[in-house]
Amino acid sequence: MAVSEEDGWGAQAKCLTADPEELFVEGAAQNRAKALCTGCPVRTQCLAHALDNRIEHGIWGGMTERERRALLRRRPLVTSWKRLLQTAQTEHERSTPTGLNGKDSQTRAS
Ligand code: SF4
Repeated sequence: MAVSEEDGWGAQAKCLTADPEELFVEGAAQNRAKALCTGCPVRTQCLAHALDNRIEHGIWGGMTERERRALLRRRPLVTSWKRLLQTAQTEHERSTPTGLNGKDSQTRAS
């Protein structure tokens, strides 16, 4: 991806120091490029940026351009991927226990 600074998330991009050419590859090399996104702290923001701006090339948020096109075709009514993905992320974080094996949430619940 080309790091975006519009929301300030680009500074946290795991690929910030990577060779940009690594993310703009074709074929099987895309799977290796996608691996770079694993564990990236701004993966959701990156994917939302690419989807909302209809970016057609490169790996963004761990998805290839082909995967993003398919997603956009499946969900043509989404007007803001940023809002949709942030809401989903927030709901996921709320439903996921913190700490090892949910110990923190179990402690709080008792
Ligand atoms: S999700 Fe991937 S492409 Fe996007 S900022 Fe993170 S490492 Fe870079």
